Amino acid sequence: MPRKLIAGNWKMNGLRGTGGELARDLAARARSAAPGCDLLVCPPAPLLIPVGEALAGSPVQLGAQDCHAEPSGAHTGDIAAPMLADAGCSHVIVGHSERRSDHGESDAEVRAKAAAAAAAGLVPIVCVGETEAERTAGRALAVIESQVRGSLPQGSGAGPPVVAYEPVWAIGTGKTATAGDIAEAHGHIRDLLREILGRAAGDSVRILYGGSVKPDNAAEILAVDDVDGALVGGASLKADDFWAIGASCP
Ligand code: PEP
Repeated sequence: MPRKLIAGNWKMNGLRGTGGELARDLAARARSAAPGCDLLVCPPAPLLIPVGEALAGSPVQLGAQDCHAEPSGAHTGDIAAPMLADAGCSHVIVGHSERRSDHGESDAEVRAKAAAAAAAGLVPIVCVGETEAERTAGRALAVIESQVRGSLPQGSGAGPPVVAYEPVWAIGTGKTATAGDIAEAHGHIRDLLREILGRAAGDSVRILYGGSVKPDNAAEILAVDDVDGALVGGASLKADDFWAIGASCP
């Protein structure tokens, strides 16, 4: 079983002062008490350099929230995967539901971004998850399956990709999927990964759960079969909460 990964998605939050303080706090904790899981923080792009400096010498890794599918070029406002690697990132989130809905990103675009990340030596964290309407219509597993098949990169990068299962209706809402629903979704994703990548490679992919993970529900979620960590939004903005989630890893 791979070591669990707890990834913090800061989204569009934080300035150099607050972000640096949060990163320094986490780095200091991780330097004095080795966490029992891998920790990753994904700040907004302007904070990557100062947060990376604050994390230096600690086991907390640095990630980004999105990348472009091209390695360079005329794409005003976008950020290329090699730039993220150069800024010290090890991971990049692609296909977060907020990108899929706010920017209309398709599975094909997410796959191209994931492939670009892998080519730059980054580990892509590929997000999938159904909306509330899709779950109510009984289509949750079909939607997840189609997103996994359509979004997973075909090449390999710094390591196997990470998949994050994030039911859209659970993100930032305080609602979480039941342990049974999480087990069903993660089990389905594991079966798909084995089918697509082969058994050993499929088993090496970490599948994160995301959606209102907090210190008080983390232990139950992280104990579910095939939950290899968590993608944490709101609770990653408080060092105490993010650290407590990391400490909940079995
Ligand atoms: C997320 O942004 O990926 C997320 C899961 O957010 P939250 O933890 O706030 O629901």
